[in-house]
This record gives sequence, structure tokens and C-alpha cells, in this order.
Amino acid sequence: MSIEVRNIYKTFGNFHALRGVSLKVNDGELLALLGPSGSGKTTLLRIIAGLDEPDPGSGGEVLFHGESVGGSRVGQRRVGFVFQHYALFRNMSVAENIAFGLKVRPRKVRPSKEQIRQKVQELLRLIQLETLEHRYPSQLSGGQRQRVALARALAIEPRVLLLDEPFGALDAKVRQGLRRWLRRLHDEIHVTSVLVTHDQEEALEVADRVVVMNDGRIEQIGTPDEVFHQPASEFVMEFLGNVNLFHGRVEAGQPVFEAVNGKGVPGKPARLLVRPFDLEIHAGGEAPGAVRARVKRIQSAGAQVKVELENGLRETLQVEMPHARYRELGLQVEQEVFCSPREARVFTEPGDS
Ligand code: ATP
Repeated sequence: MSIEVRNIYKTFGNFHALRGVSLKVNDGELLALLGPSGSGKTTLLRIIAGLDEPDPGSGGEVLFHGESVGGSRVGQRRVGFVFQHYALFRNMSVAENIAFGLKVRPRKVRPSKEQIRQKVQELLRLIQLETLEHRYPSQLSGGQRQRVALARALAIEPRVLLLDEPFGALDAKVRQGLRRWLRRLHDEIHVTSVLVTHDQEEALEVADRVVVMNDGRIEQIGTPDEVFHQPASEFVMEFLGNVNLFHGRVEAGQPVFEAVNGKGVPGKPARLLVRPFDLEIHAGGEAPGAVRARVKRIQSAGAQVKVELENGLRETLQVEMPHARYRELGLQVEQEVFCSPREARVFTEPGDS
């Protein structure tokens, strides 16, 4: 089941939560809506679900499988939900929680008791909680509860699955495990899914494609690789990881890490953004085009060594390198070094397009 949203506007009072959003989720795809708090992710998800409507008269549309679902209510859209705090029914066991959506169906379309039992068993296997079916929510960990919430959403065989920060309340380690689990689960069941998250790692790791939102608009849609390696804007680049900003220039199409200073230096002023792992510290001292800096802090506990430098303008630069390179350089705090970028993304200075 594909989902398409066309030209969605949503206003709350004077506040524009969505400003003309259009996108398509392909059949069987897992799409992540990623953006800072308040960028409109949840509002868009609620409109897809039918929990909210676009502004009247704005011409926006939501289509499932090419057909407009405007006017049809949540139940008719057959959407499965998992929210951050979508509390399970406390007085029902795990199995009863999962069965709930099927048991409350009108008699005519309700599966038999045996069919419901089988469906619950199948879902318990899927979420790997077969042994906990008689437990109550209070006897489960946070991660287990969210897996049950997912099974409950899947029990109704939704046409689309909408996940709003489903792991948001869990600690980092559990989140990591669960997102890998979610990805494997999705590969198995292929239900068209939209995941709202403000965690870039989560979006990049789990999703087939990522929609980066900012201030009610889409900044970029692409695969995790595309949005990370070819960010369409400075906002996307900064949102997806740490960056160092250099006020430099572009000369003959090439970035130069030296500003236009009004003294006849050729080129156009530009903002050069460099990821910490693309900034290289030179072992042999000064190198052409390199920036002079001083080592201020070294953090070597982690997969990469993080080195904080300060340049002549007292600006902080962040560098990341493998441990082997760090040992080779023999860096010390307060040492003077030269560094230069291996790769930079170039954006125009504001007011200079
Ligand atoms: P978060 O990650 O914090 O959940 P979000 O990107 O999901 O953020 P939304 O929940 O979509 O953001 O909200 C977008 C903006 O719309 C916010 O500034 C929010 O305050 C506002 N907003 C959302 N719902 C309402 C409402 N019912 N009434 C008034 N303002 C609202």
C-alpha cells in the first residue's frame, strides 16, 4: 500500500505547522520523518492517520494506493499505531492486549476465538515474547512493552503502520537493540511504515528513505546515504551530525579555506562545512592551505578518537580519527598542529547567492 500526501498545509491559530508538504511512501517502504522538535513531523503523521485534517480549502490530499482517503475516519483507513507513550491496557495480559483490536470487531467480521488465539501466537513469535504472554504490562521492561504495542498494532493487519517516536522513552542501549529489531521485522513483514523520530542515528539506521523536515517544510528526501553524503542544505548537513564551519571562498570552482578579506583576494565568499572525520591533522607540520590550531582536548574512549582544536580566531574545530592514526600522530594537549579538510560541502554565505 503506497501513501501519498499532496500539498498539505496545517495552521494552528497563527502558527504554520505544515507549509505545503508533499511526499510519497512506496509500497512496503519504511520512511522516516526526521527533524527537530516542532518541525511538524507528528502533525503530518496525524494527518496521514486521519486523526487530523489539513487546513480546509487548502487543497491538500492524502492518498492510499492512489485513492484519496479524505473524509474517511481512522478506523476506515486501517492504520496501525505505535506511540512513545501508547500505554498498554494495564488490566490485560500481553496476549489480551495483542488480541484487543480483533476482539472488539463487530460480530460479523470478528475472527473466531481459535483464529484470534493463533494470530496472537504468531505475533508473540514475531516479537519474540512467546514466554511472556500471561504477564501484565507492569511486569515488562519498557522495550518489551513497546514490542507488545507493536504486536497490538499489527494484529489488525494494518494497511500502513505509523510509529511516533516508538522508542523515545527508552535508554540508548535498548533503543539501539530495538531499532535493529524493527528493521529486521520490517524486512519480514514489509508493511508500509512511517516512523517519526528526532534521532538522526535512528533514522539513518532504520529507514529506506529519510525525509528531513524543518519548520513545516521538507528540506530533503533521500536514502540515508544521500541525505548524509549529499545534503541539500546547510540545515540538513548540521542536523545529521557534527560539522565544522569555515568562512572561506570558492576560487575557480574549488573551496579555499581562507576568507575573502577585501584585499583583492579572488573568489566568492562561501561557508565551507566539514565533518569532523574529514578534517585531517598533518604529522609533518605546516602544509599548503592548512589551518594552524592548538590541541585543546583529546577524548580517546570510543570507536574514534575525538580531538578538539582551537584556531587563531579562538573557534573550536572538531576532528575525529581512528585510534591507529592518533597513535601515529602522538598528539598532546596544547600542541600546535596544522589541519586541512579532505572534503567540504560548500554553501553560499547568507545574502550572497
Ligand atoms: P516533536 O518532535 O517535539 O514531537 P514535531 O516535529 O512532531 O515535534 P509537531 O508535534 O508536529 O512537531 O508540532 C509542530 C508545531 O505545531 C509545534 O510548534 C506545536 O507546538 C504546534 N502544534 C501541534 N499541535 C498543535 C495544536 N493542537 N494546537 C496548537 N499548536 C499545535
